[in-house]
Amino acid sequence: MAASGEPRRQWQEEVAAVAVVGSCMTDLVSLTSRLPKTGETIHGHKFFIGFGGKGANQCVQAARLGAQTSMVCKVGKDSFGNDYIENLKQNDISTGQNIIVIVAGANLLLNTEDLRKAAHVIGRAKVLVCQLEITPATSLEALIMARSNGVKTLFNPAPAMADLDPRFYTLSDVFCCNESEAEILTGLAVSSPANAEKAALVLQERGCQAVIITLGAEGCVMLSQTEPVPKHIPTEKVKAVDTTGAGDSFVGALAFYLAYYPNLSLEEMIKRSNYIAAVSVQAVGTQSSYPYKKDLPLTLF
Ligand code: ATP
Repeated sequence: MAASGEPRRQWQEEVAAVAVVGSCMTDLVSLTSRLPKTGETIHGHKFFIGFGGKGANQCVQAARLGAQTSMVCKVGKDSFGNDYIENLKQNDISTGQNIIVIVAGANLLLNTEDLRKAAHVIGRAKVLVCQLEITPATSLEALIMARSNGVKTLFNPAPAMADLDPRFYTLSDVFCCNESEAEILTGLAVSSPANAEKAALVLQERGCQAVIITLGAEGCVMLSQTEPVPKHIPTEKVKAVDTTGAGDSFVGALAFYLAYYPNLSLEEMIKRSNYIAAVSVQAVGTQSSYPYKKDLPLTLF
């Protein structure tokens, strides 16, 4: 978002360095003292509406660090969809042309035809980011389009599926998942840096250029074709108040560094992304907890 006093950017017309093909979700959150039993009605003490969806979360975090971003997504033609587009604009994210439909699960209707309409966005980006909250075939097609245009790919296989198409691995410059996703994908237990390193090796053998497994308060494990020995990258010790969306903050930050600081080592990008995600866990909410560039140390930029 532009700092106060700065003119707002012309969000419709700029070429995005970070393109995200993914989901937008509106979170309707009720806070209650316990879960209701089947058929029971209980009182909640708080209700709020939040902006979520892994694709949009990652895009918002990259934008708040100063990236020119573009979101290729589908929303319903209703008040939630309209509010979401407004949220993306408020974060200076370009949505280009929207194809709007009147169904709740609009994310699943984003298809390869839509991608063709967004080819100029995907093909001219520095980094393409994808997840699995849209139809996997659409994510796969986006990765293929990016690769054929020399655009770096950052793939976040979330939510994970055990029978992931093997092309997702070979199409990933960076394959970034969390512990539970790594477990589903490899069948190995992933609960510590030591066994995450084993899982990372298995994922790497499937053809990724680099693998990152995030480990919450433990930071991450990484390895790459150029640094083939897995390495644990610890993170800051902080007082976490809400870790929801930390993974998306991390991926969004990583996308920013891949696009704007391509000469940094992957390890350095991860250290900085760890720092940013650690800031996000110290505030409540998902996108509402993501830090802006102006609130972060200059040494990160
Ligand atoms: P979510 O599903 O809640 O978005 P995730 O499970 O995908 O999160 P995590 O592995 O929990 O992702 O966290 C991602 C990154 O966020 C970690 O690698 C780390 O950098 C940071 N992080 C998460 N939890 C903490 C914490 N308690 N303290 C410091 N940093 C944290």
